This record gives sequence, structure tokens and C-alpha cells, in this order.
Amino acid sequence: MTEFVQFVTQPVKRIVSRLSSLDIELTERCNNDCIHCCINLPANDRAAKAREMTTGQVKSILTEAAALGCLQVRFTGGEPLLRPDFEELYLCARRLGLKVLIFTNARLITPQLADLLVRIPPLVFMEITVYGMHAGSYEAVSRVPGSFAQFRRGVDLLLDCKIPFVVKSTLLPPNKAEMDEFETWADKIPWMDKQPRYSMFFDLRNRRDDEKKNELIALIRLSPAEGVAVLARDAAKYRKSTEEFAGKFMGPTSEALFRCGAGCGLCIDAYGKAQPCMGVRAPKLTRNVIVTDSDTPLRDALDFFTCLKDIRAANPDYLRRCAVCFLKGLCEQCPAKSWAEYGTLDTPVEYLCEVAHAQGRFLGWLKDGEKAWEIHAWKERVKG
Ligand code: SF4
Ligand code: SF4
Repeated sequence: MTEFVQFVTQPVKRIVSRLSSLDIELTERCNNDCIHCCINLPANDRAAKAREMTTGQVKSILTEAAALGCLQVRFTGGEPLLRPDFEELYLCARRLGLKVLIFTNARLITPQLADLLVRIPPLVFMEITVYGMHAGSYEAVSRVPGSFAQFRRGVDLLLDCKIPFVVKSTLLPPNKAEMDEFETWADKIPWMDKQPRYSMFFDLRNRRDDEKKNELIALIRLSPAEGVAVLARDAAKYRKSTEEFAGKFMGPTSEALFRCGAGCGLCIDAYGKAQPCMGVRAPKLTRNVIVTDSDTPLRDALDFFTCLKDIRAANPDYLRRCAVCFLKGLCEQCPAKSWAEYGTLDTPVEYLCEVAHAQGRFLGWLKDGEKAWEIHAWKERVKG
């Protein structure tokens, strides 16, 4: 017994990771112009390109991230492969020992890039978003003629070279009838061991820069009932997994706003601003990591983001509803969504509120007309 106590009280020497994850949005520009996209700027937007981080700046972020114990970087965009220095940045990350997760639409995968990915594998499966199974549907989403053929060429190249990747999709009016066809195709991809994931409750523009685009996004979102029908295609499986989830994560969260992992990792936007997550672009919650006197800008940003746990909601509507709502764990309402929708961190997002209520009704936790924030005896309704 004494030995055991001594053993467990010995200081354990190990490297503790300060930085749990790193996402770098290499560019906001994209070679697609998807109807639902909350971020893209045109591929040839010169002003955006001129403001983007330089190769050296991205490399210095990767270097500090590795020193902070980070094990993986996600390169995303826009379309990250638009950057002419993509291969150099990829090699830098891999030399630093980082795994590299690449989010791409696959249109710019060339034999040269495929060759590099074979010689020096990213060590984590690439993720490719598929916007349709045919030129008509794909290009009704991407709004770029010829993009479907390029996407298929990119995917075929990866398959030929046996470079592991998974596919996911977005459910939109031009492609939602193709779900079965998409899944049959996806099932033949050797690295797909699960059903593909779908995006369907689309965010508005999180830079809050395009009202017209926001109107379009709001128009093409699935209705809450359609969303639930997709989530519960296998009703028994959906019920079981949601009830298990509910047992762990459901319940009111009071007025604390950030109950997620935001700020444990870092998201760096294309211009060198660190954000607590990709969606939270509120200026008071971002830190410039390239224009700074500090030698350790990422560590400073991490220190700054410890303030998130102290941020409290002040909006009376949030306090009356979300702060006491038992659907909080299930509902996608969060500061990032609130920011995109209303430019505040604590306004309930009505669309997401309706989606969560539709799920609650489907699961039998709510009756028609009931509001989740008014149900006090919710534990009796939620099994698990
Ligand atoms: S491919 Fe992705 S980043 Fe590009 S426009 Fe479409 S959704 Fe946006
Ligand atoms: S369901 Fe509505 S009230 Fe409940 S957390 Fe979501 S947005 Fe807030």
C-alpha cells in the first residue's frame, strides 16, 4: 500500500499538450461558389489574396503549434489547394511531425500533389465534400461549369493512387434526391467504414458580409421536419444514439456561454487572426497572431481564450430560454451560430430552436406546442 501511494505521488515526466488542435483557414477564396457557403470569396479576389498570410507566417504558426504539443493541423478554406504554396506548407507541417487533415472539394488535386501525398502521407484521411452525383446537380450547387468533371477527376486520382479519403455531403435542393445514389457510391470507397456525414442546417455568413447571400442560405435550408426525417432515417438507431447522448450531455447550462471545447484549440483565419472556433469571429474574441511583438503568439492566444469560461449571457431572451432549456445539449445553438445570425453571442437562433424542438417532439420528449425551456421535470421524459 505504501509503495502504491509513493508511486502515484511521484511527479510524472511527460510532455503535456497545451494546444489540443489547430485549424488553419489557408484562404477564404474558393474555386466553387456554392449556394449555401458561409465563407467563400471568389478565387480571383485580389484584395483577399493580398491580405492572406504569407508562406513564412503560416510556417511560423505551424512551428509554434508543434512546440506547444499539437499533433495535427487541419488545412481548410475556402479551398486550401488554391494556395500556390500548399505543397510547401504541407511539407513543413509533416516535417514538424504534424498529421495533416485536408478539407477540399478535390477539384485541384493534380498528379504532382497525389505523388507527394503517396510519398509523404498526411497520416489522416482527407475529407472531400461532394455537392452532387451528376454535373447538373453538382453545378447547380457549385455554380461553376465544369466543376463536376474536375471533382471526379480529383477523386479518381486519389483512388488510383490509393490515397485514403472519406466523403461527406450537403443536403440542398439540387442534390437531396440523390442521397441513396451518393451512399451507394460512397460505400465503394475503400476507406468509408461509416455512413457519410451530411451538412443540412447551414450557417449564415459568419463574416456577416453579405445579406443577399444570407437570404439565399436561409431559403435553401432544410425545414426542421425534413431535417428530423433525415436524422431519423433509421428511427431505432437514431432514438438509441440520441437517448445515450442525452444521458450524458442534456440539461440546462445556466448563463455560461462557452460550455464547448472552444479555446482549447486554435483556429487561425486566412489573415492571421486566432479565433476560439471557426465560427466565432466577434472582434473582441480574436487575437492577431502575426502582427504582434510576442515570440509566442499562439501561447498568448491560448492564455487569452481562458477568459471564455467566464463569459456569461446577458440577453434576457437567452436567460429566459437557452439558459434553462433541457434541449441545450441537443440543440446546435451556440455563440458561433448566434454570431453568424445576429452579430451577438447570446441570441437564441430561431431556426436551430425549431430544429431542436422538432427532434424533441419526434423523440416523445415534447408534446405539440410545448416549449423546452418551460419543462422542469425533463429528466422524467428523457431516458438514458
Ligand atoms: S467548395 Fe466549400 S468553401 Fe468552396 S464554395 Fe463550396 S462550400 Fe464554400
Ligand atoms: S432549443 Fe431553443 S431555447 Fe433551447 S437551447 Fe436551443 S435555441 Fe435555446
